[in-house]
Amino acid sequence: MSKTAIVIGSGFAGLSSAAYLAKYGFNVKLFEKNEQFGGRARILEENGFKFDMGPSWYWMPEVFDNFFADFGKKTSDFYELKRLEPSYKVFFSENEQISLPSNLDDIYALFESYETGSADKLREFLEEAQYRYEIALRKMIPKPSLSVFEFIDLEIIGGLLQCDLFNSFRSYSEKHFKNIMLRSIVEFPILFLGATAKETPALYSMMNHADMALGTWYPMGGMNEIIKGFVKVCENLGVEMYSSSPVKKINVIDGLADTVSVKGLEVNADVVLAGADYAHVEKDLLIEEYQSYSQDYWNSRVMAPSGLIYYLGTNVKIPALEHHNLFFDESLDEHSREIYKEPQWPTRPLFYVSCTSRTDPSVAPEGHENLFILMPVASGLLNDNEALRESYFNLIMDRLERLCKQNIRDHIVYKKTYAHSDFIQDYNAFKGNAYGLANTLKQTAVLKPRVKSKRVHNLYYAGQLTVPGPGIPPSIISGEIVAKEIAHRYSK
Ligand SMILES: Cc1cc2nc3c(=O)[nH]c(=O)nc-3n(C[C@H](O)[C@H](O)[C@H](O)COP(=O)(O)OP(=O)(O)OC[C@H]3O[C@@H](n4cnc5c(N)ncnc54)[C@H](O)[C@@H]3O)c2cc1C
Repeated sequence: MSKTAIVIGSGFAGLSSAAYLAKYGFNVKLFEKNEQFGGRARILEENGFKFDMGPSWYWMPEVFDNFFADFGKKTSDFYELKRLEPSYKVFFSENEQISLPSNLDDIYALFESYETGSADKLREFLEEAQYRYEIALRKMIPKPSLSVFEFIDLEIIGGLLQCDLFNSFRSYSEKHFKNIMLRSIVEFPILFLGATAKETPALYSMMNHADMALGTWYPMGGMNEIIKGFVKVCENLGVEMYSSSPVKKINVIDGLADTVSVKGLEVNADVVLAGADYAHVEKDLLIEEYQSYSQDYWNSRVMAPSGLIYYLGTNVKIPALEHHNLFFDESLDEHSREIYKEPQWPTRPLFYVSCTSRTDPSVAPEGHENLFILMPVASGLLNDNEALRESYFNLIMDRLERLCKQNIRDHIVYKKTYAHSDFIQDYNAFKGNAYGLANTLKQTAVLKPRVKSKRVHNLYYAGQLTVPGPGIPPSIISGEIVAKEIAHRYSK
């Protein structure tokens, strides 16, 4: 008879693991606390606007292709992908704005126009980035990281030695480029790792291969279309999916998870896979005796940032905006210090604006614009309140209007804000984090919270607080790694 696997949470990690576990012959039951499946990639539909609530950048398309291919499907069975041109626009000041072309030759020409010799430097930089990407994606990221011995492989060790593992990304980028705007462009993808260029190993230049060579894509209809595809894959495999079903407790007998408590019922489990926030599962669903990590351990982790988000609908078009827009008109180092070193509400924050209606007419009424504005902030800031959200809204609007040379405020017809307390309430997010655990050197691979519980023998974890790390592609891979680990154990 099939073993029963219970999956907690329906983010990318939970859905991915549920699909693989079903493929490996488990009888899978998935419980999601929210009404909608998708976790941080849920959708908000109001007044004719369709907002992706979380992720908006579709990078590393092969990870999505590989997932669907493992189930005999293609991405095009679920959504139409479009490569964005330009990939994104960076606003440095009223007069200095750079749009990054999607074509590599155009990117080389752009770099050369700002700094003589930088096209060749970029070529060299991207060759290394591609090598690192290949080693990381094929050899390192798919490891469950339960033991350092998994990494004793000549190709990995050889690769790591060539990867400037102990050199920071900042010194690596400074070695290549002098122009501050070009450096900001090559350092920007590091923000996806939830850490700063100074704290991140140069190894992560693989992200620049993802950015400049593999490109920025968009699934028409929005990022939530990917979730719909994942849900269909799970349903086709017979996964029992329950929304509005928060798991309240994992009941352990003799070191084994026996049942989970959901909606007043005790549901039997042979194995439990938690795709919900790791710290929440440990602290809130297990009694202390069965927790692998202490409160002090969690408090000492470097969390990736949280975010103060505005979902806005406007009744005018904003021609200065592209699909993705980075507002780097203030100091990134200063903002980073206020996120990581001395966590506080930022003084002069950078922010990001996604305007999906530039590409997709289905996300806003005709003649309107759909804006998602994100200001990264430290996780764990307690005084998240309406007055503060409103004061940052005014600060951002002043800059947005000045840099876009257009009145926007008077044309807002829909507005919703979202920050720490919402992340905690909606996702049980530790310290209200948006992106999980930062990918610093001390929190990489075996140094991350383990995918297998140390105290409960049939309890596993997937998602952005464990390996490989934050972001959609890592979360999808995380679900696959853990499902394989479980299947391997139960096949013995
Ligand atoms: C604002 C924002 C922007 C982002 N931008 C990007 C981007 O552009 N590109 C990118 O690649 N990544 C981006 N990310 C990161 C990416 O979205 C995440 O890393 C990824 O979606 C995390 O997936 P997950 O499955 O680990 O967690 P989640 O999506 O959080 O899923 C966990 C699920 O568990 C559920 N849950 C929690 N507690 C319980 C319980 N007790 N019982 C049952 N269910 C429970 C939650 O409701 C949730 O549905 C962004 C994230 C945010 C928040």
